[in-house]
Amino acid sequence: MLSETDILQAVRQHIAERGEAPTMGLPTSGEITWHSLLEGTAVRCIETRTEDERIHRGRIDLSDRPQYDRLERHPLAPPKDPAVATTLKLVQRGSVKEDPCPCGNGRVTCSRCQGRGDLPCAATTTCSDCRGIDACLRCDGTGHRTRKAPEETRHAADERVTCKKCGAFDAACSTCRGRGQVTCSTCQGRGVRECPDCDGEGTEPHKRCAGTGHTVTWTEGIISRQPRTEEIKWPESGLPYMARQRAREYGNWRKTFLAQTDSVPDELEDEFKALLKPRLKPRDGEIAREADLRYLPLARVVVPEHRHRVYYVYPGQSKLQVFILPSSQRTWQIAGAVFGALAVLYLLSRFLS
Ligand SMILES: [Zn+2]
Ligand SMILES: [Zn+2]
Ligand SMILES: [Zn+2]
Ligand SMILES: [Zn+2]
Ligand SMILES: [Zn+2]
Repeated sequence: MLSETDILQAVRQHIAERGEAPTMGLPTSGEITWHSLLEGTAVRCIETRTEDERIHRGRIDLSDRPQYDRLERHPLAPPKDPAVATTLKLVQRGSVKEDPCPCGNGRVTCSRCQGRGDLPCAATTTCSDCRGIDACLRCDGTGHRTRKAPEETRHAADERVTCKKCGAFDAACSTCRGRGQVTCSTCQGRGVRECPDCDGEGTEPHKRCAGTGHTVTWTEGIISRQPRTEEIKWPESGLPYMARQRAREYGNWRKTFLAQTDSVPDELEDEFKALLKPRLKPRDGEIAREADLRYLPLARVVVPEHRHRVYYVYPGQSKLQVFILPSSQRTWQIAGAVFGALAVLYLLSRFLS
């Protein structure tokens, strides 16, 4: 454990090494605030056990699945690696039922054609060329010549043929020959067409058994293990970014790796242990945990004789490390000075232009 004397001695030595002793003097006291840095990750394995009624359409072999009597009591070895997600599916002993489906062979009457295999279809459709409107210029498709013969063809582009209904020359639509209707291409005029849902069979696969005529039902137990990773960074705020970065780079961090259910090792510093304990509290459903953590004590020192500086002191590889940041008061002074200089430049530029 670092003592306040060690910390002040490190600050004095740092000032001396920087050659500032003659101007700043060597402090004999300082206001020391202790910070404890804790960083790392904790990975927890969270287990949930759920049951579900299952149905399988057709046949299925469940004999290779593990069986259980009471899911919450089912023994299962702890995970080898808490960071790996696993899902285990089990079958409740005695719950498997193999049943023939009431449909018998997996097929039921087609709902669209009611089992007939065909659907009604109009034998003729309206002619698409004349749309049935001017099928014949003389009889309009009725067979009775009610109109006079035109002196010349009304539409030069229209090709007209002899009407099958009234016999007039060059009067009828060439596609329907005066009928206004053409034979249905779907049923070729038969008046019925094959049901497209069952291809004329009259039956379709039964949905409940997916056409297999057989179902298997059982109670399934699922044991799911999911990792939950938590990044740990303490303190979360309140420490300047630069001070933290320096400590990360040059600090002699105390490390510990806790596997599975290890309790916090006794030989760790009390402060380290105190920080660890609340973070390693078991969570709901936790069955395993791994934590990779490091700790560094850090002292923040302000010397009454020169309050414009903050000294950060922490253990390094061979000796105590000291890092200086301007105090926040000093930072505002510097910012103010910079702003003042910019304002002067601005006024000068206005004045000179
Ligand atoms: Zn069925
Ligand atoms: Zn059908
Ligand atoms: Zn006609
Ligand atoms: Zn026509
Ligand atoms: Zn048809």
